[in-house]
Amino acid sequence: MSGVLVVGSIGYDTIETAAGRRDDVLGGSAVYFALAARLFSEVAIVGVVGEDFRNGDVELLRNAGVDTTCLTTVPGGKTFRWHGRYHDDMNDRDTVQVDLNVLGCFDPELPESHRDFPYVFLANGSTAMQLKVLEQVRPASPKVYFDTMNLWIETEREGVMKLVRHTDGVVLNDSEARMLTGIPNTVAAGRYLVEQGAGDVVVKKGEHGCIALWGDRISVIPAYPLAEVVDPTGAGDSFAGALMAVLASGGELHEALMAGTIAASFTCESFGPEKLVDLTIGDIRTRLNELAAMMSE
Ligand code: AMP
Repeated sequence: MSGVLVVGSIGYDTIETAAGRRDDVLGGSAVYFALAARLFSEVAIVGVVGEDFRNGDVELLRNAGVDTTCLTTVPGGKTFRWHGRYHDDMNDRDTVQVDLNVLGCFDPELPESHRDFPYVFLANGSTAMQLKVLEQVRPASPKVYFDTMNLWIETEREGVMKLVRHTDGVVLNDSEARMLTGIPNTVAAGRYLVEQGAGDVVVKKGEHGCIALWGDRISVIPAYPLAEVVDPTGAGDSFAGALMAVLASGGELHEALMAGTIAASFTCESFGPEKLVDLTIGDIRTRLNELAAMMSE
């Protein structure tokens, strides 16, 4: 296999932002990841949905070129649901409700054909599920990165630290880095994770961009400046999708961070993954050039 394999949540989101409200839009970490990754490399999704998952949404993923062979439907089951409400400062949001449903007891068993992807991303989902997939793809997959969030840091901290030690990279936002390490300074928190056995550490800082510690290098990328953010849901996941897919196609981390930044900026411009679905590599390149020009001014 070539390209990236992603395991994570697939679900329906209810989203409230200053720009309005949308109910039951397609979402989940693996969905945003895959819709961004497919622009740069092949991508296969591992996830679980219930019987209420709309056929049209499977079609949407397939038409976008995403390999859905490892998408499991649980008979009689209900799809994962998340309801989020953003503050006026869109870097802050409250989870109004989360119903894990079929995601709560997902026990992924990858077919032999999907155990040797060169790049694997353990997107946001239960830590137990991420560890299970890690076991199945090692040692055949040389590069495994993961993401996590406050819920799992609170409830499965030991498992999260195990992922830090046994994967090749972690992508998380600054508040998660703070929560996981207890260290408020981003660079110091990143260094601490490296000392604990992490590989590359990528810390996202919302509209302030991102910072990555890799080997003895540090990369800092500003966010693409947007005058209006409609809905930042999935920005982090689409960032990771573009990042991993650029790495999978032979790019260096610095280049991958730039692509991730641009993919995330498009995600923020519409509710749910609307904008990502229609996005082309040409759109990405245009914005990449704009950001590069701004950075050199
Ligand atoms: P992001 O905005 O990048 O943090 O990602 C938002 C996506 O993560 C939404 O589409 C949600 O469906 C999904 N999500 C929210 N909470 C969880 C959770 N506890 N586990 C897995 N996915 C989640």
